[in-house]
Formats: sequence, structure tokens, C-alpha cells
Amino acid sequence: MTAKDDRITMLHGAGGTVMHDLVKNYILKYFEGGAGLAEVPLEALDDAAVVDDIVLKSDSHAVKPIFFPGGDIGRLAVSGTVNDIAVLGAEPQVLTCGFVLEEGLGLADFEKILASMQRTCVEAGVSIVTGDTKVVEKGSLGGCIINTSGIGRRTSVLEKNLEIVKRFRSDFESRWVLDSNLRADDKIILSGTIGDHGLAVLSAQEGLSFGSGIKSDVKPLNRWIQRLLAEVGGIVAMKDPTRGGLADALNEFSEKSRIGILISEDRIPIREDVRAACEMLGLDPFEVGNEGKIIIGVVRDKAQELVKLLRTTEEGQDAEIIGETTADFSGVAMQTVVGGKRIIARPIGDPVPRIC
Ligand code: MG
Repeated sequence: MTAKDDRITMLHGAGGTVMHDLVKNYILKYFEGGAGLAEVPLEALDDAAVVDDIVLKSDSHAVKPIFFPGGDIGRLAVSGTVNDIAVLGAEPQVLTCGFVLEEGLGLADFEKILASMQRTCVEAGVSIVTGDTKVVEKGSLGGCIINTSGIGRRTSVLEKNLEIVKRFRSDFESRWVLDSNLRADDKIILSGTIGDHGLAVLSAQEGLSFGSGIKSDVKPLNRWIQRLLAEVGGIVAMKDPTRGGLADALNEFSEKSRIGILISEDRIPIREDVRAACEMLGLDPFEVGNEGKIIIGVVRDKAQELVKLLRTTEEGQDAEIIGETTADFSGVAMQTVVGGKRIIARPIGDPVPRIC
């Protein structure tokens, strides 16, 4: 039931319960079903879809401002789509790129964004092969919006990873690394510190300085993820905790796998300056978005080995086993440092607007 004057608000794009309700009650209502062609369909609401062994993803990037500490909208547009394909265990290959440019955007700034996209594509080993350019009148775009779509494919590395999962779980049937693959007794690993990207964007939005210089972690993670699958394996689920942060991503895991998740507060890596800035601004770092981190669900017997490998890498040097799955309850709970347990609810939306 919606009132006649209900309208889109900023929260509808903020990655929490309000956005999920919009997707479920409006978008899925018209598009789900998809003629049964997709192996991982729209209604799975995973990071990407799978059709005929091709992993498919589309993502619009509307970050404001378009340049922020540690990155820019171009690097974000390539990394965001690449990472959503990579977390299914696939190797991204080509991207499309649609620009919506705002009248008045400086050509020098546009070229800076293009150069950043080119560098990020080289880093990820992907190419942009088709695209589109539109221009709209001066308004509230903040310079430009970039849509990228991408396709990725299965690799022998993914096959090997799944074989290792089967050694520990004989009834495992999934052909991809999916949010719905977790079962009781898996371990949950977080690859690094949370909140860096959101705080970096917020500092640029508000003209704030947090002293030691918090930078966005925006980065294409596909090559690194393939290494984790190849050198350790046993990974069943992965997710990049973007809008809505760790809290939203863990709740997605829990809901889609129908399993409880218990994490420990003292295991969550957070930079001291990010923690202090969040406290000062009244933000929950668990709900703030990241662009260079992943949450990994892995079979218990491979967790230590995976963390050991992660800590030898630049992207995973702060990795921790933050918790595990359990059949004892549903939803997400956290053992707090003071000794109690608290529920980690799905956020209403990311507290930082236009973060990605
Ligand atoms: Mg994602």
C-alpha cells in the first residue's frame, strides 16, 4: 500500500531496508521471473546475474563529489562493476560505459576521469568495448553520472575452489560463489578495515578534515579474489560491503542462506581515525560503505589458511575471522566487548548520501 503522494527520497538509493523494499515491491514486481533463462536470476538479488555461464552486472555511479580523497567517480565506476562480477567467483572481461554529463562539467575534469578509468581497467585487466554519452542541463548532477555494465566468465580457478568446498560438504551443489551458499559452521572473514570509503566521501562533501587523512579504499579486487580462490579455496560466499556497509551485507548473507551469523566486536578491523570520526559525527561504522573490501564465507577448515594468505597481501593485511554461521538463531548478532550480545539489524540506509 502506498499513498498517492509517495515519492522517491534519498533513502531509496542508500542500500538499506528502504532501498530493498523499493527493489522488492516495485522492481521485482515487474521484472522477476525473466523467462527462466537465468541460472542466478534477478530475484536472487546477488551482486550479479548468471545467464548461459556468463556473469552479468550493471551499476550506475552517482558519487558526490566526483573527486574525493583516494579516488574519483571513474575509478569507482570500473571497480564497482568489476568487483560485483568477481565476488561470484568469475573473471570480469569487458565493460560498457554510459556517461550522463552535466552541462558545465570542465573538459579537463572529464579527461581526468577518463584517464582514471583507463588506469583502473589496466589494473583489473578489463576493456571498455561500447558505451554512450548523454548531456543534461545544469542542475544537481554534481558533474556526471557513469553507468558501467560488465560481463565475466567461469574460470578453472572457480572450478577448483568449488571442488575444495565439496571435499568438506558432500551435498554442495552450487556452481557459483553465492550469498545463499552459507551453512551452519562456516567461518566469516572480513578482508580489512571498514568505513574508509564512506568517511572519505563524507569529508569531501562536507569540507571536513579528520586530521590523519582518511582515504577511500576504492580498488578493483578481481585479480586478488582469483588468487584467494586458486591458492586456498573452500570459499562459498563473497560480498563487497558497499552501501549499508558490513551490517547490510551480513544481513543479506543471513537472509539468503537462512542462517544465523554471530560476529565478535573485538575482531572487526576499524582504523582509529575512522572510529573517532564516526563517534564525532554520530555514525555507525558498521553501516558505512566500503569499495575495496570483501566479506568471505569459507568452510571452517580453510579459514585459518585463508586469513594467513590474506595478511600477506596489500588488500588483506588487516583481515580477520570476524565470526561464524550458526543454526541456533536467525539474523545477525554480535558478541560485544563488554560481554553482552546485540542484534545487528539491517540499516534503514547508508548514513552517507551519494556514496557510490
Ligand atoms: Mg556488491
